[in-house]
Amino acid sequence: MDPLRRPLIAGNWKMNAGGSDGCDLALAVARAAAELDEVDVVVAPPFTALAAVSNELYNKKSEVGVAAQNLHWEESGAFTGEVSAPMLRVAGATWVIIGHSERRQLFGETDEMVAKKIAAANAGGLKPIVCVGETLAEREAGETLAVVARQVKAAVIELGRAGGEGVVAYEPVWAIGTGKVASPEDAQEIHAAIRKLLAEADAELAVTTRLLYGGSVKANNAEGLLAQLDIDGALVGGAALDADGFGKIAEIAAKLARQGKTE
Ligand code: PEP
Repeated sequence: MDPLRRPLIAGNWKMNAGGSDGCDLALAVARAAAELDEVDVVVAPPFTALAAVSNELYNKKSEVGVAAQNLHWEESGAFTGEVSAPMLRVAGATWVIIGHSERRQLFGETDEMVAKKIAAANAGGLKPIVCVGETLAEREAGETLAVVARQVKAAVIELGRAGGEGVVAYEPVWAIGTGKVASPEDAQEIHAAIRKLLAEADAELAVTTRLLYGGSVKANNAEGLLAQLDIDGALVGGAALDADGFGKIAEIAAKLARQGKTE
C-alpha cells in the first residue's frame, strides 16, 4: 500500500441502528478506534441517525467520520423522500456511499445515476465511496472484469474531480451479507485491475484513490484481505453493527499500516 493512502475502514449500517441505538453504537466505535492513529474509521448510519451520531462524535472529539448511505443529485426541490448533499452536510456527514449494490439492484440505480450522485457529492463537499462489483451470474459468466470496468469507467471522470478524496469499494454482490468472501488473491486481482483503470484515466488518481474490499468482511478474515497491496481498507456491513468486531478490523488495518506492505 502506498503511504499516501491511509487505511480506511467504513461501516455500512444499512437500515439498522437508526435511533438512539445508533448513537450508542457510534460511541462504542469511537472508543474502539480512539487509539488507532494510522487508520481512518467511518460509520454510515441511516439518515434518521446522521445528525445525532455526528453530534455525539463531535462532542466526544472523536476522529470517527460520518457517511450517508445515499444521496440525491439535486440540491433541493420536488423529490419526495430524497436527501441532498447540502442536507447531509448540515446533518454532519462528510462522506457518502454511492452506488451500493443494494441501491443498484433493489432501487434501479444505473451507472449514469451513480455518476450524477458523485458529481453532487463533489459539489456538496462530501467524499464519495463508490461501490462496484459483479453479481454471481456475472461472475459465473466470466464477466467480472468487464462489469467492474464498466462501472469504474462510468465513475472515473467524477472520481477525478474528487481528487484523491474519492474512494472505490469493490464489493462482489455474491459476497455481500452471504458469509462468502472473495479470496485475498481474487480480491487483489480485481483491485489491481481497478487501479489500472484509474491510472489509464489519470496516473495521480490511481496513486491517491483508496480502494476498499467489501463483502462479508469480519475480524477473522480481514487480515488476509487488508494485507493485499491494492486493498486500502474495507467496507463492512453486518460486522459493523458490533463495535468490538468492527474495532478489531480497524486494529488489524492499523497494525498492517505500522508494518508497511511490500510488493
Ligand atoms: C455492505 O453492505 O457493503 C457489505 C459489505 O455487507 P456485508 O459486510 O454484510 O457483506
